[in-house]
Amino acid sequence: MTGALSAVAGNLQVRISPSDPALGHTVSVQITASPETLLLEQPWVSLTHPDGTQAHYPAFPLAANRWRALMPTTPLDRPGSRQVRIHGFAEEPIFPLSLQPREFPIQSIRLPAGASVWATEVEWTKVESFRQQISPEKHWQGYFQRPAQGPVTTVFGVRRSYNGKFAEDYYHRGIDYAGPVGAPVVAPAAGRVGLVGYEAEGFRIHGNTVGIDHGQGVVSLLLHLSRIEVQEGDWVEAGQQVGAIGATGTATGPHLHWGLFVHNRSVDPLPWLYLAIE
Ligand SMILES: [Zn+2]
Repeated sequence: MTGALSAVAGNLQVRISPSDPALGHTVSVQITASPETLLLEQPWVSLTHPDGTQAHYPAFPLAANRWRALMPTTPLDRPGSRQVRIHGFAEEPIFPLSLQPREFPIQSIRLPAGASVWATEVEWTKVESFRQQISPEKHWQGYFQRPAQGPVTTVFGVRRSYNGKFAEDYYHRGIDYAGPVGAPVVAPAAGRVGLVGYEAEGFRIHGNTVGIDHGQGVVSLLLHLSRIEVQEGDWVEAGQQVGAIGATGTATGPHLHWGLFVHNRSVDPLPWLYLAIE
């Protein structure tokens, strides 16, 4: 992952970063233009795949003359060429983007016959509707911080095979940090607590869960907590304790699972810790 692509198209200045994303990276598209040239209430960006399918992403204001859209990519995407198109101005420039391949480790899992790895209806519905939230304001500033201090035990993107069969739809949707039960779990960035779920209320897979809405389509999920110290609707600052490490839900031992979602796709949190994605 290296530099950014900066280009001028008519009255628009466009910056795409990184210009060579790999699977799991978040691509930021910044548009600088005079506000008078904006034809819509809000600009947006489309990403066209080689098969013609398109994804659309809103561009939110960062300043009076600057907007930014975030485009998630995941380990399930096919590497290769894409087209990025800017919408909302008289010009609708198109830029090429090349999505790089990336290798992920594969875990072999043996499941006893009849073992359940499925979420309950209640946790699925609540987690899914939380992940779809898009609040227009940006709550994070600069770098995210790691939400727990222990060593990383499972990296983002690990693929799995169950009883020898490769799971096409599975990838590890976050980072696992080891730690003793009760060790603090903090907000990786500021935001609004949009989800609190308890194992006792049906969060069978996730366990005790806190979801933080960082704004503009970026949300965090913190899973398997032993204790929760916030309520839905609370405002949290970056670094503020929201709970403690546990082993609730489906967990073989105490750890924190941190999932970072951009427009409801689980992306690699690491670049958010080291690149200060604006
Ligand atoms: Zn995990």
